[in-house]
Amino acid sequence: MLALEISNLHKTYASGLQALKGIDLQVEEGDFFALLGPNGAGKSTCIGIISGLVNRTSGKVKIFGHSIDDEFILAKSLLGSVPQEFNFNTFEPVEEIVTNQAGFYGVPARIARKETEHYLKQLGLWQHRRSQARRLSGGMKRRLMIARALVHKPRLLILDEPTAGVDIELRRSMWDFMKQINDQGTTIILTTHYLEEAERMCRNAAIIDEGDIILNSSMKKLLKQLNNETFVLYLRDDLEQAPQLESFNKIIRLDHHSIEVEVPERLSINDLIHELETQNIVVERMRNKANRLEEVFVKMTTKTDDASAA
Ligand code: ADP
Ligand code: MG
Repeated sequence: MLALEISNLHKTYASGLQALKGIDLQVEEGDFFALLGPNGAGKSTCIGIISGLVNRTSGKVKIFGHSIDDEFILAKSLLGSVPQEFNFNTFEPVEEIVTNQAGFYGVPARIARKETEHYLKQLGLWQHRRSQARRLSGGMKRRLMIARALVHKPRLLILDEPTAGVDIELRRSMWDFMKQINDQGTTIILTTHYLEEAERMCRNAAIIDEGDIILNSSMKKLLKQLNNETFVLYLRDDLEQAPQLESFNKIIRLDHHSIEVEVPERLSINDLIHELETQNIVVERMRNKANRLEEVFVKMTTKTDDASAA
């Protein structure tokens, strides 16, 4: 059973900006799925559409087989969503924010109170239940958003950058919590630009860039592609085009005096420098491309360019 099915989803904002260019996405029930992508890629737009907070231009969204158009109430009842921006009434007490949300979903008051207690305790907010939400720290507000999203027991939980700006210790405890929720059967989709987060928890991932899905695979496969190291080399002399080398085939010319080269596991950076020297290309400086997620983005976008050029 698919927890989420998106087909040919388009979003063009009033400004004319095409935030989503016809994406397709399928997430299986029980999965822990990462939607990765650089800033401005379209992640929040996509999540906003699924949650009914953003109007789409065209395309279809189904939650556990139920269309968000034709079966809006049913589809919505199966979904819990944690938007990127805090959107509760900050003057309301913590406990009320959560029980009221349960009320919107038709959960009877007695059960709503019980579930609220359960999630507030699990998320370390129970002692703050009578505080106005504005008194909470940033990390606590984030956890309040999560408690509120879970109180009606959705089968699919979507979190938009749940750990952005959260310190590392709290991030770890949130990971544990999400893992536990997933183990108990809730399908989870999260957006993130921390690769470590996706790496640790997610089984499958899609990478979105400029409104297109450029990769959709298991996390394992995605990480495999990252095993080969990529270096940026700064050259002494100007270069008109990417050099052709015998042992290295993934070479991208970045500008007139820098190139990016992937060094396969069996070769070393010295092999690379030597081979460049045989062509009178002198390396002045170099650096390791540190951010692996950025690395994937570069690779994938380059691949797409190649494909469209072919
Ligand atoms: P992400 O969450 O991946 O950072 P977003 O979905 O927030 O990306 O944004 C995708 C693109 O749409 C960006 O270029 C952003 O500037 C633009 N965008 C987002 N919201 C709006 C809006 N309300 N009006 C116009 N453009 C928007
Ligand atoms: Mg976003």
